[in-house]
Amino acid sequence: MDYSQFFQNALNRLHDERRYRVFADLERIAGRFPHAVWHSPQGKRNVVIWCSNDYLGMGQHPKVVGAMVETATRVGTGAGGTRNIAGTHHPLVQLEEELADLHGKEASLLFTSGYVSNHTGISTIAKLIPNVLILSDALNHNSMIEGVREARCDRQIFRHNDVAHLEELLIAAGDRPKLIVCESLYSMDGDVAPLAKICDLAEQYGAMTYVDEVHAVGMYGPRGGGIAERDGVMHRIDVLEGTLAKAFGCLGGYIAGKAEVIDAVRSYAAGFIFTTALPPAICSAATAAIRHLKTSNWERERHQERAARVKAILNAEGLPVMSSDTHIVPLFVGNPEKCKQASDMLLEEHGIYIQPINYPTVAKGTERLRITPSPYHEDALIDHLAEALLQVWERLDLPLNRKSLAAE
Ligand code: PLP
Repeated sequence: MDYSQFFQNALNRLHDERRYRVFADLERIAGRFPHAVWHSPQGKRNVVIWCSNDYLGMGQHPKVVGAMVETATRVGTGAGGTRNIAGTHHPLVQLEEELADLHGKEASLLFTSGYVSNHTGISTIAKLIPNVLILSDALNHNSMIEGVREARCDRQIFRHNDVAHLEELLIAAGDRPKLIVCESLYSMDGDVAPLAKICDLAEQYGAMTYVDEVHAVGMYGPRGGGIAERDGVMHRIDVLEGTLAKAFGCLGGYIAGKAEVIDAVRSYAAGFIFTTALPPAICSAATAAIRHLKTSNWERERHQERAARVKAILNAEGLPVMSSDTHIVPLFVGNPEKCKQASDMLLEEHGIYIQPINYPTVAKGTERLRITPSPYHEDALIDHLAEALLQVWERLDLPLNRKSLAAE
C-alpha cells in the first residue's frame, strides 16, 4: 500500500484551500528586539518583527536571560523526568509559589505549555465534578475546545461574550454543577470578556469559573496578574490559567486556584503526570520575569502607549484597523490569498515580518494581519510600518477607509 499518498493528498487539500502554512526562518537578536535576522532563500536579511507574542520583550530581558544561564550552569539542563520519578526541582517549586502569589490563590500547578494546561486542566477538573455541564465561550482557543471535548461531559456554547445568552443557559441548566470556561482577552480581535458580570452570574447560579488569561498575564493589572486583577475580580474566579510563553518570554503553562482543586488536578491529570517537567533554567527565567513585572510598570505602560500610537497612525492613514480594546492591532484583509501576499510583500520588500492570520485561526472572510507592538517598537519603526502597509495596500488593491482619509 502506498501510505505516502494519504499524506500527499492531505497536503494537496491544504494547498487547494490556500491554507498551507509556511513558516519564516527567523533568528531573534537578544538586546535588539524587535530586530531579527530572516534566513531567506536568498540569504540572511535584517527584519523587524511586528507580530511576536513575546509582548513585552521579556524574552531578551537581562534579568530573565541571566536567570536562565545561571540556573543551567548551576544545575544543568533537563528536569530529569516526570515529577513522579524525578521529584520536583527547586526552581519549579519557587515558580509555582510565585504564580500562586501573582493570582492571589492558594496554589498553582505548572504544565509544559499553556495548551497542555488548558487541555489537561479543563478536562480533569470537569471529570472530577459529577454530572457537570460545561458552558464555553464560542471563541475559546483550540486548547480549551479540546479540553472541553476531552472532558466527555455535557457542554453548551454561549455566544461570544454574550452574558445574556450565558444567563439563559445557566437558568436552563438548573441546579446541576456548571463550569463556565472563557478567556479574559481574545487574542485575534483584542476584545475583553465582561469578567465581573460573568462572576456575578456564576455566583448567582452556582457555577464554577475557569478563565484563560494567556494574552493578559504580565500585561494587565498593577502586578501583571491579568485582566481579572485589573478589573478587581481575581478573587472571584475559581481557576485562572496562564502561559509563561508570551509576556513572560519563556515557555510553560499553569493553572492557579484553591489548594484542593490544584492538588486534585496534580493527582489525576494524565497530561501532567506522564510527562517530563519543565527544565529548571526555564522555571528560573520565568520566575525572574514574573518578579520583575510584579513591580515594574514601565513595560506595561509603554506597551499600551505604543499600541495606541500604532492604532492612531494606521487609522489616520485610512488602513482598516479593526476595533480592539487592547494591545492587539488587527488589520482587516478579508481574503486569504491577499492576506498571504501582503505578508510576503511586507517581508520581502520592506523587511517587516507579520504573519497572515487565515482560517481556521479566524473565520473565513475575516482574514487579517495581526500586529502586536511591543515597548521596543520606536516611532521610526511605526512610521516605516505605516508607509510599507500603504504601499502593499495599493499594490494589492485593498480598500482604504475613506472616512479617515477625508478627515485628514
Ligand atoms: N490559550 C490561548 C487563548 C492561546 O491563544 C494560546 C496560544 O498560544 C494558548 C492558550 C496556548 O498557550 P501556549 O502557547 O503557552 O501553549
